[in-house]
Amino acid sequence: MFNSLSDRLTATFKNLRGKGKLTEADIDGTAREIRRALLDADVAVPVVREFIGRIKERAMGAEVSEALNPGQQVVKIVNEELVGILGGQTRELQFAKQPPTIIMLAGLQGAGKTTLAGKLAFHLKNKGHAPLLVACDLQRPNAVRQLQVGGERANVPVYAPHPGVSSEAEVPTGDPVAVARDGVATAREKLHDVVIIDTAGRLGVDSELMQQAADIKAAVGAHETLFVIDAMIGQDAVNTAQAFNEGVDFTGVVLTKLDGDARGGAALSVAQVTGKPVMYASTGEGLKDFEVFHPDRMARRILD
Ligand code: GDP
Repeated sequence: MFNSLSDRLTATFKNLRGKGKLTEADIDGTAREIRRALLDADVAVPVVREFIGRIKERAMGAEVSEALNPGQQVVKIVNEELVGILGGQTRELQFAKQPPTIIMLAGLQGAGKTTLAGKLAFHLKNKGHAPLLVACDLQRPNAVRQLQVGGERANVPVYAPHPGVSSEAEVPTGDPVAVARDGVATAREKLHDVVIIDTAGRLGVDSELMQQAADIKAAVGAHETLFVIDAMIGQDAVNTAQAFNEGVDFTGVVLTKLDGDARGGAALSVAQVTGKPVMYASTGEGLKDFEVFHPDRMARRILD
């Protein structure tokens, strides 16, 4: 992820090396190169436009610095602006004063929600929490079973609609809202301090799916709603994120499949267009392929 973007930006900055003073033409040329690199990386057009506008404005007005030459100053500005579009500060989960903290996962089918649920449970368990996973994806065949397997790996219990679902192909029936409610009641009873609810996705955004997610959120009073998005979906990321932002008003974003070789535009667009922070990144199929998302580290990774 980001390899090509990273190479392009590094090459652009190389051209500024050794320059005593940057002319307007230097700044224009650099801005043009950065713009092209971002668009080729699939960053959404409005995000690129705003980003470039800010870079140019700041580079033109950059104060003469003793410590940094003009080229280094441009790199510094780009770095700061990248951190900004990635959401600024690291944002971790906010726990409810009165446990359990209820976390709901939402997103398209295949985004990586069920996989993430196990990883997040594992992460929180390692931090001393006692999570309960709740299986509310009653749409996708095997989603419940998959969550149960994830729970077993993370050594975290799973509340599922039919405890006895054993056949691989069986799709449990039931009302996902009722399952979510019962799951939270079970968490209270068994003194779990965190509940992670996996919900159903569809291949595309549709109103029924969105309504179901919104109904679950309202029924359980979720404290955090994490929008899970596959970073490989490119330009579609923005529309999908906006639809989920309107539909379920999520509190944070999880980017998945950052281990892939996609161009990374989704990662750079979603926080900016929704105004919601990226909180976690998933980087593989294993339980430990998961990290807290730090905008400053990600920006450094892109610019190094
Ligand atoms: P859901 O429909 O949103 O619950 O998606 P799943 O959790 O079932 O994930 C869909 C597919 O993507 C599965 O094959 C996962 O193993 C895979 N997957 C999930 N997260 C990642 C990731 O971070 N990296 C990679 N390479 N694959 C992932």
